[in-house]
Amino acid sequence: MKALNLVLTYTRKYRLVLSVTIIAMLLLVAVQLAIPWAIKSLLALFSGSEITADALSTVGRIALLVLAIYLARAGLEFLRSYYAHVAGWGVVADLRKHIYERMQRFSLRFYQDKQTGQLMSHVVNDTDQFEDLIAHAIPDIFVSFVTLVGVCAVLAYINWQLALLALIPIPFIVILMRLYARYVRPAFRERQKELGNLNAVLADNLSGIREIKAFTREDEENEKVGHQVEKYRQLSLRAIGLMSAFQPVIAFFSSLGLVIVIYFGGHLAFRQTLSLPDLVAFVLYLDLLYQPVKTLSGSWEQIQRALAGADRVADLLEETPEPQQKQGSFLIAGRAPGAIRLKGVCFEYKQGQPVLEDIDLEIPARKVIALVGPSGVGKSTLVSLIPRFYDPTQGTVSLDGRDVREIDLQGLRQQISIVLQDVFLFYGSIRENILFGRPNATEAELITAAKVANAHDFITSMPDGYQTLIGERGLKLSGGQKQRISIARAVLRDAPVLILDEATSAVDTETELLIQQALERLIAGRTTIIIAHRLSTIRNADKIVVLDGRRIAETGNHDELIKKKGLYHKLYSIQNKLSESPLLYNNEPEDHISASVI
Ligand code: ADP
Repeated sequence: MKALNLVLTYTRKYRLVLSVTIIAMLLLVAVQLAIPWAIKSLLALFSGSEITADALSTVGRIALLVLAIYLARAGLEFLRSYYAHVAGWGVVADLRKHIYERMQRFSLRFYQDKQTGQLMSHVVNDTDQFEDLIAHAIPDIFVSFVTLVGVCAVLAYINWQLALLALIPIPFIVILMRLYARYVRPAFRERQKELGNLNAVLADNLSGIREIKAFTREDEENEKVGHQVEKYRQLSLRAIGLMSAFQPVIAFFSSLGLVIVIYFGGHLAFRQTLSLPDLVAFVLYLDLLYQPVKTLSGSWEQIQRALAGADRVADLLEETPEPQQKQGSFLIAGRAPGAIRLKGVCFEYKQGQPVLEDIDLEIPARKVIALVGPSGVGKSTLVSLIPRFYDPTQGTVSLDGRDVREIDLQGLRQQISIVLQDVFLFYGSIRENILFGRPNATEAELITAAKVANAHDFITSMPDGYQTLIGERGLKLSGGQKQRISIARAVLRDAPVLILDEATSAVDTETELLIQQALERLIAGRTTIIIAHRLSTIRNADKIVVLDGRRIAETGNHDELIKKKGLYHKLYSIQNKLSESPLLYNNEPEDHISASVI
């Protein structure tokens, strides 16, 4: 029901286009029915004893009529097919845009237990089914039904007894088509699935070709791929074997009609109750009688599949976008001072598994605080509550004294820049990736931002400079270069609040220095929260907050915390020891601690 509603809602916009299709379809049926009738009229001319001049001109007229009918059919075919597809692909495009627009508003909580591939399949494959439904299944059913009714009416008009006899093979055809749908189609679907598996194995092997060579696994992998190829061949043969067996049987039952008409029609013709032209017309109409029966019995499955896809789409569209915006939410005018406060904040991703408990934290405007603590203790979770990637399960997060849930969401996020440890760059030019922070920035602002981020030099040394393509299919940048591009992005965004997942562990000392310099410039004058992985870099933070086991263990500046000889002191000493062994230091800092020096 949901699915049907969805189909109706989305096709409403294409009412006019669909009306053209329906009219074209009806005319096409009429045209098809007219041809045997024209031949019948032609034959009727010869039933008189003499061929008159009048009869000859009728022959000419019939030929012209048939020509006109075929011309009309060409035009109507175009109208039917083109406009059915205009509606079909139109609905698919509308749905895809709508789903994606909705998906962007879903909370990260929605995404945490979904697979990207699955979600992509909703946007691409499930919507594809609508094209099948609107441009093929529904028109096919409609045309078949009208043709069936039309042919039956004409046959009954010519001779109703013979018409009834001609219907005898229909139940057999229906049964056979149902069996075909039950056995042959699934066999083809299974084959299709196997092709997917073959693709997956190949993709995996080709990406891992270096490992295959290094571990001399060629023979085993050959066997693995060979096995998949063989499986596909077997399933193909099975599906094609079934199809080859079914189709002649269905054709046989369809031709039984002809046998019946020849036998009984012949008798009737001898007895002069059926004229010869009528008999020939009957035979010609028979062809039009069984095809719609086959189509109608086969379309059910197509409709089912399309509706199942529509159901999944409907479910997705019913999902409520989160976090929800309150009516009349507060619009921040200009630049916020950027004071942040967390009060009694608790948070859990899954019910009953608290990640943060009772967090009270005050970050005055333009101050720098560092979040420190063992890995997995909730640092990233805590900062993700500020731009409302998630809402706390208890307590409040506020910006300049106002609960963030009361602030217009886009406006809130515009006050915040985030530089993550795991930099994601989109496929596109370096320029586009930096402008992601503020698309309407001028060229001069862009270059200044890149300079502040210590990125300008390496960008201009590339052959295409700012136009160099990066990302999935573009040039591969080093970790340090990516980091500096993301800093340039944040500089350009120029937001009063900065969240920094500081990570320089993967870069050499020189790059680390360049990044540190860039970060120092970026931090100046902004409320900054640093998730610090290296304690050596946060000595200058106004406040260091040490998280341990879901709660704040201690706060203070570097000197105070060292004096306290608590967790921070312990973590700091561990890191100091590690730093004496360069190998360990480079590989493991994150497992032990976080802190950073600006
Ligand atoms: P940190 O930044 O201190 O390393 P996180 O905030 O990333 O810690 O994670 C805190 C806890 O929450 C961890 O136990 C982690 O497994 C869990 N967690 C993080 N993100 C998610 C998520 N999206 N869904 C469920 N659990 C999560």
